Amino acid sequence: MLAQKLAGRLRSLDLPRRIRIMEVCGGHTAAIYRYALHALLPDTIELLSGPGCPVCVTPNEYIDRAIAIADSHHVVLASFGDLLRVPGSHESLSQARARGCDVRVYYSSAEALDFAETQPQRNVVFLGIGFETTACTIAATMRRAIEHNVRNFKLLSAMKTMPNALRALLSSPDIRVDGLLLPGHVTAITGTSVFEFLPRDLGVACTVSGFEPLDILESIDSLAGQILAKAPRLENGYRRAVHSAGNASAQQAMRELFCETDVTWRGLGAIPQSGLTLRSEFAEWDAAQYRIAAQHGHEHPACRCGDILRGHTRPQECPLFGSACTPESPLGACMVSSEGACAAVYQFANTHEARELHHA
Ligand code: SF4
Repeated sequence: MLAQKLAGRLRSLDLPRRIRIMEVCGGHTAAIYRYALHALLPDTIELLSGPGCPVCVTPNEYIDRAIAIADSHHVVLASFGDLLRVPGSHESLSQARARGCDVRVYYSSAEALDFAETQPQRNVVFLGIGFETTACTIAATMRRAIEHNVRNFKLLSAMKTMPNALRALLSSPDIRVDGLLLPGHVTAITGTSVFEFLPRDLGVACTVSGFEPLDILESIDSLAGQILAKAPRLENGYRRAVHSAGNASAQQAMRELFCETDVTWRGLGAIPQSGLTLRSEFAEWDAAQYRIAAQHGHEHPACRCGDILRGHTRPQECPLFGSACTPESPLGACMVSSEGACAAVYQFANTHEARELHHA
């Protein structure tokens, strides 16, 4: 009922033109399609997916590199499950495992460290992907590995941070976004203050959103109001979890273990100071120490993941969507994770949950 009321309010807004709102976080994308929130909105409000799915923004060369390390140095690769089916340039981690690479799936970095501690004769490389939300848990694991002197546990980092990526994306002349649904989980760690530059310097309306359908609709309402009033600002629509200063101990853990570095994002290219790697004093635990031949990643030529992650293209506009590329047989990263835009659109269109919400 509340959802219908909010949707009705949004439909009654007198928007002078079509406005474009990007949901930065893959969790928002999944919720929007799970509950078909996009179908409740007027045509004047367009939702775009953004670069907030950690699996999706991990470039092919990272997967190529992990496999090359396993092949040349016979290490165990410890990975989150989603990453296994992402196509690399030549094969996925899952295909590498089928031909004999030792690739193991863990739900957390701590579990992977537990395994390494029980297998001191094996070198274990943890494939660390994720944004600030995951990076702080990986920091805690690496601190434990260092304190316990677990030298057979190494981190191959593809961790990324959001503020500079959003700055780079929104500074691009070919991107037109009026408002951002900011990621609730990331902001719970970083605090809202790190995103204040978005409305101030780039004129983009911003609202931090939770992940329930009503959270998202209320946040879209907040953004539409800011855009209509031509008064972009930073709103916190997730006050029950997010505060201005964020989580100080998580930030401290990340600062102690990691330093910021330039990294490549799928679709966005190299972005200065938008990645996290181990500090040089912890080089013993850094899988960068494994020497391999240079990797030059390449993707399926027709895959449009890069354009989707920049809010340029919708999944249905990819010629491979739902035909050559499905969740069972993904050709690009956005079809793998449930937070990927292609997988979300493919899996949640016309779901039971969506129908229920629309009839509530
Ligand atoms: S449908 Fe598949 S190939 Fe096309 S953009 Fe999405 S993931 Fe890439």
